[in-house]
Amino acid sequence: MKKLRPGDTIGILGGGQLGRMLAIAAAQLGLKTHIFAPENDSPAFEVAAFHTCAAYTDQRALSAFARGVAVITYEFENVPAETAAFLAALCPVYPDVKALKTSQDRLAEKTFLRGLGIATAPFADVEDADALARAIAQIGRPAILKSRRFGYDGKGQAMIREGADLSAVFRSIGGQPAILEGVVPFTREISIIAARGKDGAFKAFDACENTHEHHILARTIVPAKLSAQAGDKAVGIARLIASALDYVGVIAVEMFATDNPRAGIEDIAVNEFAPRVHNSGHWTIEGAATSQFAQHIRAVCGWPLGSVKRYGAIEMRNLIGAEAGTWVSVLGQEGASLHIYGKGEARAGRKMGHVTRVG
Ligand code: AMP
Repeated sequence: MKKLRPGDTIGILGGGQLGRMLAIAAAQLGLKTHIFAPENDSPAFEVAAFHTCAAYTDQRALSAFARGVAVITYEFENVPAETAAFLAALCPVYPDVKALKTSQDRLAEKTFLRGLGIATAPFADVEDADALARAIAQIGRPAILKSRRFGYDGKGQAMIREGADLSAVFRSIGGQPAILEGVVPFTREISIIAARGKDGAFKAFDACENTHEHHILARTIVPAKLSAQAGDKAVGIARLIASALDYVGVIAVEMFATDNPRAGIEDIAVNEFAPRVHNSGHWTIEGAATSQFAQHIRAVCGWPLGSVKRYGAIEMRNLIGAEAGTWVSVLGQEGASLHIYGKGEARAGRKMGHVTRVG
């Protein structure tokens, strides 16, 4: 594969804040970006050299986009796999379509992880309400029903406790194909943000510890409060996943760490992976020698990966909905780095920006 050079253009599917921060990182390395996204108020459009506002099914627009860029990547894992496959026939796409497809379907994802011998929550396939009753008999309660596709930030999910009406729960997630998962009694949620280059080189940032509020990431601290062995194990899992997918780019693997006094180290189970840069890696902009965004750009360009050295103890907080209104006070805080994504209305639950503190 040919290496890109400063001045070349990277195509990015998706125009949210992740695309915006990728475009900024690319610009710092002398690269141009072309954002392709269907929403005309996409925050990434403002910071990219070129943009196309069109549907992911618009083959004319996709062909023109592919002709104008040297490589294509994405910031959003719900880009239709058909779109990525169509583009891959015209231009290199990283991470490749297999990673995208696997991560889009929770059943395919968990089956893939199990095939690699990686621990996950116990799970069962639920294609209809009858299958849900069988799955509950197998997994027990409480359990979590999750739609197989298009789930994020807790959408398409329902907790099933004793006495729940299974048909009603199945309808509540849209009556669509789903998986049932046993509840993992985790002590903490962690993520590994790692990158794999075209030459197979692999680098992982230190484990992040994540706190969610209303199913949305609220806060990340680094390093995670985790034993060194469990941290190594988590990185090993991320490496295994990336190698198995012949992955190129940044990958985020979300995991549960559960204290296991008998084994003396924490059990690590994978919840899911995202074939892209990730909210829990935003701290790397100020907190590491190479940001996750620059790392992803390096990987898809065929460039060497950068150092993952961390500069201190990190806290990253998301500014969600009305919290964005605190921006003035954040500006006055010593050591706080403010990021605002340039979105319109600060609707409840919307990620408007974030603040990183490196101590
Ligand atoms: P997800 O949409 O799979 O990322 O799940 C959102 C959040 O729900 C996770 O970050 C966990 O806090 C919680 N969660 C999801 N699956 C499980 C599980 N099997 N056991 C315990 N908590 C879970």
